[in-house]
Amino acid sequence: MKNETNPRTVTAYAAERPNAPLARTTVRRRAVGERDIVIDVRFTGICHTDLHQVAEDWGTGTFPMVPGHEIAGVVSEVGPGVTRWQVADRVGVGCFVDSCRTCDNCRAGLQQYCTGEVGTVWTYNSTGRDGLTTYGGYSTELVVDEAYALRIPDALPLDAAAPLLCAGVTVYSPLAHWGAGPGRKVAVIGLGGLGHLAVKLAHALGAEVTVLSQSLRKREDGLRLGADDYRATSDPATFTELAGRFDLILNTVSADLDLTAYLDLLRVDGTLVQLGAPEKPVRVNAGALLSGRRSLSGSQIGGLPETQEMLDFCGEHGIAAEIELVGAEGINEAFRRLAEGDVRYRFVIDASTI
Ligand code: NAP
Ligand code: ZN
Ligand code: ZN
Repeated sequence: MKNETNPRTVTAYAAERPNAPLARTTVRRRAVGERDIVIDVRFTGICHTDLHQVAEDWGTGTFPMVPGHEIAGVVSEVGPGVTRWQVADRVGVGCFVDSCRTCDNCRAGLQQYCTGEVGTVWTYNSTGRDGLTTYGGYSTELVVDEAYALRIPDALPLDAAAPLLCAGVTVYSPLAHWGAGPGRKVAVIGLGGLGHLAVKLAHALGAEVTVLSQSLRKREDGLRLGADDYRATSDPATFTELAGRFDLILNTVSADLDLTAYLDLLRVDGTLVQLGAPEKPVRVNAGALLSGRRSLSGSQIGGLPETQEMLDFCGEHGIAAEIELVGAEGINEAFRRLAEGDVRYRFVIDASTI
């Protein structure tokens, strides 16, 4: 029997300081509490957010930092009060590991928008209720409250399912919220980790899907993933030919784009949803909003119920990420390539090499 008061030491890959290369180290996780489970991490996706965080693009980070919030694994131990899980269950953890549970948003299943005193406890670069810094999935084991783990359907392989925990739900949530389905025209800006899952999911939901990519380089992939049309945004004709066309546009790009040009692609009452997080404030021409009663919105991942709904939908439709599996020693190279847009379409770390 494990000593309940002893934290556990686990092997992880961490950046020691902002922008430092990631290297093998050990971190301490809390002892298994009453309602905690231990997850034997099998695979972790590399999200572009991991690059932003290690680079402190969005503000000061806590270092050493162990990134990783697209985690897939298997339950290896359960606390005495755990009711939802058993050893050997296939589970995933996404961008957060706790929240206040009592605010209106938590009660509504929108834990990612928690307004309680605790706030959303992010999977890494955050502080848990236990007062400990959280460390992400670039590690061998995770200790997490049973309520913040999701079931990964048996139909999905764990490696390709891992990216669903962030990228998948981040695009599923706005598609569901703004009603992507038959008769609706959806555009996806950027065919990367988020973008390629947006294409698959929007297609499976029955929408007509157009990819707006910088070039036609990945056109064949886009059409194979389910896109009906694929356009290069480097070609000015794209913006004249598609003007007023879409009900919904998902912008998965974090670079500064001229959003006014993209708003003009929306029909009346259409919505552009910002998913990528540029460092600079977003500027648009008010005219592009007024002239079609258009909306500019944003969306952040998804809550626990919606994440489970998305995973079940993916299980039913055989949807998972297209991945390139890397060993732990390949993480820094994967970071470099992801920064350059050289990935088809998600790097996933084989945690057995950590
Ligand atoms: P990614 O795999 O790098 O994909 C981003 C795509 O954007 C690229 O594949 C590329 O597509 C396009 N792109 C890159 N640089 C560009 C530029 N200078 N101009 C125009 N297009 C460019 O990244 P990701 O993991 O999908 O994440 C995308 C963004 O979403 C990141 O900022 C990430 O932090 C953010 N994110 C937000 C949430 C949320 O909750 N809202 C969740 C996860 C991630 P093409 O080659 O097709 O042009
Ligand atoms: Zn992410
Ligand atoms: Zn809350």
